[in-house]
Amino acid sequence: MKCNVCGSNMKSIVTNIPFKVDQSTIVIVQDLPIYQCEGCTEYLFEDPVLKRVDEILDTVNLAAELEIVRYAA
Ligand SMILES: [Zn+2]
Repeated sequence: MKCNVCGSNMKSIVTNIPFKVDQSTIVIVQDLPIYQCEGCTEYLFEDPVLKRVDEILDTVNLAAELEIVRYAA
């Protein structure tokens, strides 16, 4: 897979990604499998991963300023 910004290789890694779900709430999803560009800061998710992240974010408590959840496939 090639980066659509710079054309470098995208490599598969597991990392923690923060998502801003509303004005005051950040959710950090841990152990998320993504593709990270080796040449720039671009990264992308596979569709099933993105769908699962959406489900996780739907369950988050919006009263909290920071939530940390673990991605589980
Ligand atoms: Zn790139």
